Amino acid sequence: MKRSIITGITGQDGCYLAQQLINKGYEVIGLVRDLNQINDSGLKHIGILDKIRLEQVDLLSESAIVDSLTKFKPTFFYNLAAQSSVSNSFIEPTQTLLFNISSVINILEAIRKTDINIKFYQASSSEMFGKVVHLPVSEQTVLHPLSPYAISKASAHWITVNYREAYGLFTCCGILFNHDSYLRPMNFFTKKVIRTAIEISKGRKEFLEVGNIDVKRDFGYAPKYVEAMILMMEKEIADDYLICSGESIYLRDIIEYVFSKLNISTQKIVVNKSLYRPAEIMDMYGANYKAKAVLGWKYDMTYFDVLDILIQEELHNW
Ligand code: NAP
Repeated sequence: MKRSIITGITGQDGCYLAQQLINKGYEVIGLVRDLNQINDSGLKHIGILDKIRLEQVDLLSESAIVDSLTKFKPTFFYNLAAQSSVSNSFIEPTQTLLFNISSVINILEAIRKTDINIKFYQASSSEMFGKVVHLPVSEQTVLHPLSPYAISKASAHWITVNYREAYGLFTCCGILFNHDSYLRPMNFFTKKVIRTAIEISKGRKEFLEVGNIDVKRDFGYAPKYVEAMILMMEKEIADDYLICSGESIYLRDIIEYVFSKLNISTQKIVVNKSLYRPAEIMDMYGANYKAKAVLGWKYDMTYFDVLDILIQEELHNW
């Protein structure tokens, strides 16, 4: 049986990735930072907590990673662990940069020293592109990151490419645009909008407070984006791929759609300029031609389709 190690298994993508790998017959081992304080709500929600093995490993320790590679002898290593919030990265830049970069170097060094046949996936981010000049963004677009998070992801991305080019390792980067699901934490935009809207509809909250909503982003559905990660790792040749819907939508339109579904007035939206980011990207969307053509990845959902699923799931689990 093929074995996959996943870091960040408690996160949104980690949960869906583990579920899809299990469904394909893989054994899944999740590396977590603290077994005594594990947030297993997502794994429980999708019903796979008892189908995976969890191990406590400090990703800032190369020797600890070497030990787990030696112990488990995985075929695949999916690296999803990261301080993943752009807003938090402005509050904790040092911690974000330190963890998001050092963990990747440690894993790649551990693979290089233990077993160069382990296939490695790095969770890169569209935030790396930052200040874009030409749209749509493609795999060739120059990186100009605009936040500590984006800088950390850009460094980790190039480290991953470097281990492919310098040592011949199978390393691939999925450059994913924003993608959501019921499992998204509350500090992310769409989750906050839907949950707050439900609370307003139940009379428990007065307003939805937001930052700059006159910006556009390319949003998608997490379980579908995770499929692309597996397709990349199943290829013979390692490469990097943009995973996105191919179109952007105003944050304001997302709120208005959710509010209309729950019969809430748009007068309940309060824009707070103190929530604006220090540096903002006004519009961004990507081209997913390469992923569709080379990987055979299929994606045809609009973000309104995704919102319908998310609103239903949130109401169902309320
Ligand atoms: P998420 O829900 O925030 O999950 C992050 C995961 O990283 C959690 O399992 C968390 O574990 C783990 N983690 C954080 N800091 C850690 C540390 N110091 N040591 C060990 N583990 C740590 O993120 P996601 O949405 O699933 O995203 C997965 C990956 O894709 C991330 O690398 C993210 O940056 C990247 N990405 C996401 C998106 C998106 O739209 N979702 C887009 C592009 C790229 P705990 O449970 O212990 O906190």
